[in-house]
Amino acid sequence: MTTGTSTPSGVSGSATAASVAARAPDVVAALGAALPPGRVVTDPDVLASYAHDEAEWAENVLPVAVVRPRAAEEVQAVVRTCIEHRTPVVPRGAGTGLSGGANASAGCVVVSMEAMDAVLEVDELERFAVVQPGVVNDDLRAHVARHGLWYPPDPASSPWSTIGGNVATNAGGVCCVKYGVTGDYVLGLQVVTGTGELVRLGRRTAKGVAGYDLTGLMVGSEGTLGIVTEVTVRLRPLRDPERTVAGYFDSVVAAGEAVTAVAAAGLTPSALELVDRHCLAAVDAWKNMGLSDDAEVVLLGRVDTPGAAGDAEAERMLAAFEGAGASWAAVSTDAEEADALFAARRLAYPALERLGPVLTEDVCVPKAAVPAMLARIEQIGAAHDIVIANIAHAGDGNLHPLLITPPGDEAARDRAQLAFHEIIAGALALGGTVTGEHGIGLLKRDGLVAEIPPAVLAMHHAIKEALDPHGILNPGKVVAARRR
Ligand SMILES: Cc1cc2nc3c(=O)[nH]c(=O)nc-3n(C[C@H](O)[C@H](O)[C@H](O)COP(=O)(O)OP(=O)(O)OC[C@H]3O[C@@H](n4cnc5c(N)ncnc54)[C@H](O)[C@@H]3O)c2cc1C
Repeated sequence: MTTGTSTPSGVSGSATAASVAARAPDVVAALGAALPPGRVVTDPDVLASYAHDEAEWAENVLPVAVVRPRAAEEVQAVVRTCIEHRTPVVPRGAGTGLSGGANASAGCVVVSMEAMDAVLEVDELERFAVVQPGVVNDDLRAHVARHGLWYPPDPASSPWSTIGGNVATNAGGVCCVKYGVTGDYVLGLQVVTGTGELVRLGRRTAKGVAGYDLTGLMVGSEGTLGIVTEVTVRLRPLRDPERTVAGYFDSVVAAGEAVTAVAAAGLTPSALELVDRHCLAAVDAWKNMGLSDDAEVVLLGRVDTPGAAGDAEAERMLAAFEGAGASWAAVSTDAEEADALFAARRLAYPALERLGPVLTEDVCVPKAAVPAMLARIEQIGAAHDIVIANIAHAGDGNLHPLLITPPGDEAARDRAQLAFHEIIAGALALGGTVTGEHGIGLLKRDGLVAEIPPAVLAMHHAIKEALDPHGILNPGKVVAARRR
């Protein structure tokens, strides 16, 4: 498996990256003619800021243009123009992706959905909202809260990432251990297809099974099957305040055993996150939050069951932490302190990025295998002399080992890539998956091939070719192009 070396491809016919790039002036002019003024940007500094997402380890180049549409019809005009010019189109939300899914490929046009950021409708009776794809996750949650409603999927990037990006990656998050992932909340979509059609998929009703589940197919397709221009999301009533249970552990493996113990106790926490001392130290060095340096690993559990039943659940979670060998554990009585710990969890990734390039894993293993996987990650880090920090949506078995290398240290980069592949192999051996929530993008394409059998990979190719016959939608992501 290679990370950061292969070339995205996939524009159909005889087009090569060089021939696509050579046609750039034509497509830029055609886009300018097809769209209202100001939508097409070619300023090199702006292009540079749209060249890649947060997965800087994955290959990327400058796009030939960035387009910022303001309406679905404009997105449709972009796709139709790009079909004519056989130009790849890379959809982009906020660019917080961690697998290179939004990275620009040779000769491409990046379509940034940021300006389409309106909440169009909130239906309190049916409990859904209709939103444009550029709405930021936290903004949607705040908007619907004013209607007494709650949008659960809460990736740790919720202050920045967009609903369109969340849909395209089927993002998970902190409360997903109890409430499910983005796909569980997508009722319907409006999409521009690879043939330039503007279509509606799915429903607004509570139930509906007419035809194939094309909405489900679009969710998690990472911009390779269509560009999402509108999303209808299911909402829940606002929930009760949560209680927080914090536990300190002397090793990641002991914390992993506590995760298994929580599941074995039959508990369904509303969050169960793991943060290790590398992350806490990096956040503290950045934000000076006065975080404790007493623990090798902190486990943060939450319970949102109301009343006495919730109190009892929190006590049972505490007992599970203590039974697994926590050096200290308590049900927090201080909401501010509990929120600070969760804020530190959210800031861990950007804090580590300040120390050097970070290569992010996203493996997900069965809950019972969490301790074994964490032990394996430690062994791999030691064997390759690589610092591996850990954050995890631990309650889901979704681990984020973060491989950190000193800036400019090419030898460490090579070792990190070997470690990256071994972690993936280790997760697959334990019955896990290469990606729990970040998607395949560029970084995990070989992992996908390792995980799914050839017949299933062929189904992926068949779907891609049927829905994107010109091969222009985010080519080279998820599945590498088939030789024609
Ligand atoms: C600090 C931090 C914490 C994170 N925590 C989590 C987490 O807890 N859970 C999680 O799942 N992820 C997490 N991520 C990863 C990332 O935030 C998610 O993948 C998120 O869903 C990406 O949203 P975005 O708007 O930034 O999309 P982008 O990064 O811009 O794009 C992501 C993918 O979606 C495609 N895309 C974007 N918009 C559209 C559209 N309208 N139509 C079609 N395709 C589109 C892009 O082509 C790309 O393939 C985290 C990232 C960071 C930096």
